[in-house]
Amino acid sequence: MSLTVVGSIAFDAVTTPFGSREKMLGGSAVHFSLASSFFTDVRVVGPVGDDFGEAEYAVLRNRGVITDDIEHVPGGETFFWRGHYEYDLNTAHTDDTRLNVFGDFAPKLSDASRESDVLFLANIQPDLQREVREQMPDAKFVALDSMNLWIDIARDSLLKTIEGVDCVLLNDAEIRMLTRKPNLVQAARELRAIGPKVVVAKQGEYGAALLTEEGYFGLPAYPLETVNDPTGAGDSFAGGFVGYLAATGGEDLSHETLCRAMAYGTAIASYNVEEFGTERVSRLTRDEITARVGELQKITNFVDEPIALRA
Ligand code: AMP
Repeated sequence: MSLTVVGSIAFDAVTTPFGSREKMLGGSAVHFSLASSFFTDVRVVGPVGDDFGEAEYAVLRNRGVITDDIEHVPGGETFFWRGHYEYDLNTAHTDDTRLNVFGDFAPKLSDASRESDVLFLANIQPDLQREVREQMPDAKFVALDSMNLWIDIARDSLLKTIEGVDCVLLNDAEIRMLTRKPNLVQAARELRAIGPKVVVAKQGEYGAALLTEEGYFGLPAYPLETVNDPTGAGDSFAGGFVGYLAATGGEDLSHETLCRAMAYGTAIASYNVEEFGTERVSRLTRDEITARVGELQKITNFVDEPIALRA
């Protein structure tokens, strides 16, 4: 079972209350591929410029990510994002976005990438996401992420792209913004009505919620004492979630399987935020992931002892 991801491959400049980095490897497709590489073969699709060198390729290849479909644009510069966070780490403030090589990117998937069973459309212009989706008509499972920018400037295109996917992962505020419905349960139902059977609402440090026809599942974030940089948390979550579903065949969307996938996404995202950018996940081990999934199971279980409630 293999997985193809298209999205941004980036250099990020990030400042949080706990430190800053001027130029670190980032991008939605990068964070996603590192996380999903624990579950299956991952092929990453996206353009980079001359400034993207061996050190950056090495981070991906050291985790076994297949980089053959990274398109090097001679003379170009890699996508660049600058952002900062205040003490409320749930909200990223964008200070600068330079599309650079994404400006005239026309995704062309290799035969090998097109043959993947699972496709993740990481955050990127929704027209591009749709072009990729159309190149993989036989994918068994397709999931999508996006962001407030595209809801603001390309809402109709994003809705059209969502019609063609099985699963949407968005921040809960973005789901409300996109559907123009203040209630999350109603908003998720509205999204499911246009196509995707599975809606995941990411809620930053509060965790994530799964909303399907079959039911609801809420999982808190892993309670960390140290958080340094939330950049990439959403993509790492998606990498764990979609990676898990790919590893189990891509077609089992039972409530139990989706809940377990949520736990793997949550565990990997929790490591991501401990350090800046890809620093932590690039040296993460499978034992560490398993341990944190076990901890999550413990902290979300309780045994009810019914007592006589007063009238
Ligand atoms: P998140 O997982 O939501 O924290 O995503 C963080 C990543 O999104 C960063 O590494 C950025 O490079 C990337 N990013 C920020 N803005 C955009 C954009 N407009 N399009 C694609 N990727 C972006």
